[in-house]
Amino acid sequence: MSVLAVLEQSAGVWHRMSWEALAAAQQFAAAMGVPLNIAVTGAGASALAAEAAAKHASKVFVIEHPLLAEYTADGYTAAFEALVRALSPMLLVMPHTYRTRDFAPKLATRFGRVLIGDVVGARFEGASPVFVRQLFQGKLNADVRPAGDSPHFVSLQAGAWRADTLESGAAVVETFSPQLNAANIRQVPEAPFREAARGVDLAAAERIVSVGRGIKEKENIPVVEALAEALGAELAASRPICDAGWLPMERQVGSSGQTVAPKMYLAVGISGAIQHLVGMKGAKTIVAINKDADAPIFEVADYGIVGDLFEVVPALVEEVKKVKG
Ligand SMILES: Cc1cc2nc3c(=O)[nH]c(=O)nc-3n(C[C@H](O)[C@H](O)[C@H](O)COP(=O)(O)OP(=O)(O)OC[C@H]3O[C@@H](n4cnc5c(N)ncnc54)[C@H](O)[C@@H]3O)c2cc1C
Repeated sequence: MSVLAVLEQSAGVWHRMSWEALAAAQQFAAAMGVPLNIAVTGAGASALAAEAAAKHASKVFVIEHPLLAEYTADGYTAAFEALVRALSPMLLVMPHTYRTRDFAPKLATRFGRVLIGDVVGARFEGASPVFVRQLFQGKLNADVRPAGDSPHFVSLQAGAWRADTLESGAAVVETFSPQLNAANIRQVPEAPFREAARGVDLAAAERIVSVGRGIKEKENIPVVEALAEALGAELAASRPICDAGWLPMERQVGSSGQTVAPKMYLAVGISGAIQHLVGMKGAKTIVAINKDADAPIFEVADYGIVGDLFEVVPALVEEVKKVKG
């Protein structure tokens, strides 16, 4: 009986959300009173194993097979199915990434279970977990108690757990070599989505400057662009800005856009509607600039500036430039 944290990496680069999932898995294993193991696969995984092994866990399983070099849903499902059958964990904990969304429901189905996806919280009734998921664009929280025999499968929303709570340790690294059959892998991998779309991965950004309807018109976007540039931040937006085509859809933050958890999120002329908040509440530090002192964004902000963004933002850019010399 154990908890298994499934970490994600691509070509030797960790997915940032992997550490959040591991931090959560450490807490779950402690609450359930069972050991924690880690699993990772794909080309480059073995080179990363030592880093994972420096975290608190019993073992790090590197799943190795030539058919796992590149991600495929069939390959990953078969590989993790073999590992789960070998280890019989009670709970698999995964980051809620695009990849997890792709293969994990199928993996869970192999065990007659469902994926409890996009979990934002957990508590324990004795050693039994109760997971919290959001419904109706974050208007309701639902408690989900895994039913039936283990294993159970959960994926965790970006920013719901903090990677800086990770505990260090010294885990043993083991190679796990599943039997895989090329004939059962139906997908042919193409270039990763991010590169093909030339898109931004806001989920990986450390700093984000996000602009809302307070900017008034498309011609004013350079005002906030200058701040993003000065801070070395990615530019993001609320939905109306993207709906209007002032910035591309891939820069939208919120329930129907991206979920982000940067170190700093600076919201400029954004009111703080619930659909926006669910996408950025995991930011470590939230700064808001809004001319309305009663705007809901100030309820989640660590620092707030009540003022006209057309005065505040250029002044801020000047100050940042001065500090940077
Ligand atoms: C199903 C559904 C899904 C949705 N998904 C998303 C989503 O993913 N992301 C998202 O963002 N929204 C989403 N929305 C929309 C959401 O409900 C809000 O309408 C939206 O977030 C509001 O954007 P805003 O804050 O930019 O605009 P507004 O709410 O219009 O706020 C503009 C703010 O700018 C301030 N302001 C105006 N002028 C200035 C100035 N000169 N200086 C400083 N401040 C100024 C105002 O005081 C105000 O607070 C969704 C809605 C629905 C129904």
